[in-house]
Amino acid sequence: MAEQKRDYYEVLGVEKNADDAAIKKAYRVLAKKYHPDMNPGDADAEKKFKEASEAYAVLSDPEKRRQYDQFGHAAFDGGAGAGGFDFSGADFSDIFGDLFGDFFGGRSRSQSNGPMKGANLRTSVRISFEEAVFGCKKEIELTVKETCKTCNGSGAKPGTSPETCTKCGGKGQVVFTRQSLFGGTIRSVEPCPDCQGSGKVIKEKCLDCGGTGYIPMKKRYSVDIPAGIDNGQSTRMPGLGEPGINGGPRGDVLIEVIVGRHPIFQRQDFDIYSTVPMSFAVAALGGEILIDTVDGKVIYDVKPGTQTDTRVRLRGKGVPSWRNKDVRGDHYVTLVVQVPDRLKPEAKELLRQFDELTGDTLNAAKAASGQDGSGEGKESSPKEGKKKKFWK
Ligand SMILES: [Zn+2]
Ligand SMILES: [Zn+2]
Repeated sequence: MAEQKRDYYEVLGVEKNADDAAIKKAYRVLAKKYHPDMNPGDADAEKKFKEASEAYAVLSDPEKRRQYDQFGHAAFDGGAGAGGFDFSGADFSDIFGDLFGDFFGGRSRSQSNGPMKGANLRTSVRISFEEAVFGCKKEIELTVKETCKTCNGSGAKPGTSPETCTKCGGKGQVVFTRQSLFGGTIRSVEPCPDCQGSGKVIKEKCLDCGGTGYIPMKKRYSVDIPAGIDNGQSTRMPGLGEPGINGGPRGDVLIEVIVGRHPIFQRQDFDIYSTVPMSFAVAALGGEILIDTVDGKVIYDVKPGTQTDTRVRLRGKGVPSWRNKDVRGDHYVTLVVQVPDRLKPEAKELLRQFDELTGDTLNAAKAASGQDGSGEGKESSPKEGKKKKFWK
């Protein structure tokens, strides 16, 4: 990859651990400095402005920022991964509306009647833990605006056609003049309010679509949910969103996944965590235990003398990366010694004998209190206790 992009944190000049407020502040300064309206015709400023805007779009979004921190720019490579982000379709007007609202007197709006990409549609789908790990196909139902067949999308009653808007003369835009906070006047070109920038008005509306040119239709789609997707992440179906404006392309459909809880497994990024019980005998003597993984049961050889809460790693048994499903995280298993709470009398007796041989812990407290008067103040070790008599 020849593309050399600067680190987003470096672009904004903030630390890797900068909070949202610091990121927004840094972007605000850069955006004011390099905004095309402040630097007409300056290509370098425009480039810097776009670079800063892209960095801000990622770092201001917790999910995108997490992905960027994990994968760097690769996280958003030309839509290669199903979770990739396509910046060409990103809506920076939200940011400008937010940032420049106070000095341009409102959201900046599209200033031409040129083609504009349609809005994205969002929906969500519930999937199981395993479906998120290995990917799946899901059916979704969406209400999509389809071109009205009666008027072929013109919105005009058949036999009539849209007429040129008289307010803007068909240009779709009008010039407004207002006072600037910095003194002087600002002339701004805005979409024509009469024709909403289309340059045309419909006198007699199509009865089927009410003049919109579109009819809402319920449609079902089969969506490929990529392996490795995590709760709250979205996958994108390009070109199935809202129709474009003035001949622009349709927006996309973003499908957010809601991943159900698993009774055994927890997930953190691409690693899986679980807790597996082992008996005291296996922990002490070593032995084989069965461990559930997303690939099925595996046999694990417990070493003799394994303590409770020992964590073992099953390499490559975690979640596949959605960029390359051959790359998988790990599965961390915490082995926990199970204490039996119901024992047969014989087992109890054997356990008492076992204890006597291995430190006499059942009598250690009595041993210690028996030595109280001796003045030594020393804790009796299990080995000493074993040979002492406690009964007076
Ligand atoms: Zn129609
Ligand atoms: Zn107009």
